[in-house]
Amino acid sequence: MTRLSQFLKLCFSMIVMLSLSGKAIGEIDYQQLRTEMVETQIRARGVKDKKVLEAMMKDPRNRFVPEKYLRRAYGDYPLPIGEGQTISQPYVVAAMTELLDLKEGDKVLEIGTGSGYQAAILGEITREVYTIEIIDKLARRAKKTLLSQNYDYIVTKVGDGYFGWEEHAPFDAIIVTAAPAHIPPPLKKQLKDGGRMVIPVGMPGAYQTLWQVKKAGETFKMNNIMGVAFVPFKRAR
Ligand code: SAH
Repeated sequence: MTRLSQFLKLCFSMIVMLSLSGKAIGEIDYQQLRTEMVETQIRARGVKDKKVLEAMMKDPRNRFVPEKYLRRAYGDYPLPIGEGQTISQPYVVAAMTELLDLKEGDKVLEIGTGSGYQAAILGEITREVYTIEIIDKLARRAKKTLLSQNYDYIVTKVGDGYFGWEEHAPFDAIIVTAAPAHIPPPLKKQLKDGGRMVIPVGMPGAYQTLWQVKKAGETFKMNNIMGVAFVPFKRAR
């Protein structure tokens, strides 16, 4: 066989293969990537809550990462989202969500909207989601992304999440995705009796401790979960 006919044969078999698989060249199978992510990064590390696993399987993380990281959207690491901030590693998103012990109808507050991905995961489990972001540009972009993905019921605002969101309090659950040096007292106050808060606490630049805080009456039960590395909690000036 001549080189040309070999080449043509190769082209022909590639076209047949691609048309059988129904995919164009370069198209990424995001559902397949999500399945692998959930199995190898999340279920394998012990996350069991069905609602969380289903949310992670459904929510298109690729829509929340910058275009240039599309191919790495489902990798086992955080990714930059601009303004020096990051979208958390998928496992951390899943583990924190599981610790909130959410059920449908729960009212949940997130501090640190960032890309909007964590808010969308919460929005798969309950429709009562409030999220606050301190950086205007990120807040605006996240709102746009959330709307484009039909999460129009998620309520966003720009502000310093240190003070929580008084007018919608109290909350069944509060999740903080940036690390303050101490737990903001307003957040403790805005938690319902029986409510859960998940928050990384520590000094900027150092590793922090992820805490699950459960409110019982006026007391707070603190569970030390694991060491984590979050971006620092900013304060409005
Ligand atoms: N949950 C985000 C992770 C974003 S990183 C996601 O899924 O993509 C943490 C975010 O917290 C950053 O966007 C940062 O700007 C924001 N942040 C830091 N301090 C804050 C504060 N005091 N109030 C609200 N947002 C804050």
